[in-house]
Amino acid sequence: MSLLIAIDGPAAAGKGSISRAIAKHFGMAHLDTGLLYRAVGAQVLQGAEPLQAAQQLQAEDLNALALRNDTVAQAASKVAALPEVRAELVEFQRRFARRTGGAVLDGRDIGTVILPDADVKLFITASAEVRAERRYKELLDSGAKTSLEQVLADVIARDARDRSRSAAPLVAAKDAVLIDTSDLSLSAAIAQAVAAVEKDHPHEKS
Ligand code: C5P
Repeated sequence: MSLLIAIDGPAAAGKGSISRAIAKHFGMAHLDTGLLYRAVGAQVLQGAEPLQAAQQLQAEDLNALALRNDTVAQAASKVAALPEVRAELVEFQRRFARRTGGAVLDGRDIGTVILPDADVKLFITASAEVRAERRYKELLDSGAKTSLEQVLADVIARDARDRSRSAAPLVAAKDAVLIDTSDLSLSAAIAQAVAAVEKDHPHEKS
């Protein structure tokens, strides 16, 4: 049996790490769908037109190291509010999900729009303060110069844009299992996520 797992949640809630761990645990492929919007956002920062950038997106574009910074994240959330950009990226995500062996996709609208029939849906969240602190530490570790206040402001601005847009807003699917990681270590959060998958699909082996 091959499972489809949809993992959504706001910025820096831990969905990336949890998704990678789940994919590894169950031996499935993983797609971080935020990279699609980041790749389009990065092209727009260089002067491209958003829809054209989405139409011309190649799988290789997702590997660029320069996508993982907050300037690109803000640009990503701006292009992600454009319905025509979102529509252009749907098929890439569904095609990835259709592969043999199952897949884990993480993003903002996976359980609601991209894979409404996913076998398991998780919504990973945490308080804005905890998320900003985690992101701040990551940025410091990567050598970036910023302040906790700036990172918190960025997290709040991006959340507000993602939640309030009319095209596929960030919202938990009705049938999603909610995991609040505010007071959880990463390993405890991963254990909860694995348990949520195994609860409904006890035959899946790691
Ligand atoms: O998850 P990540 O922080 O990389 O996502 C960057 C931005 O891309 C998000 O703030 C959001 O606006 C957008 N996004 C989206 N739908 C997804 C994944 C990401 O709108 N499925």
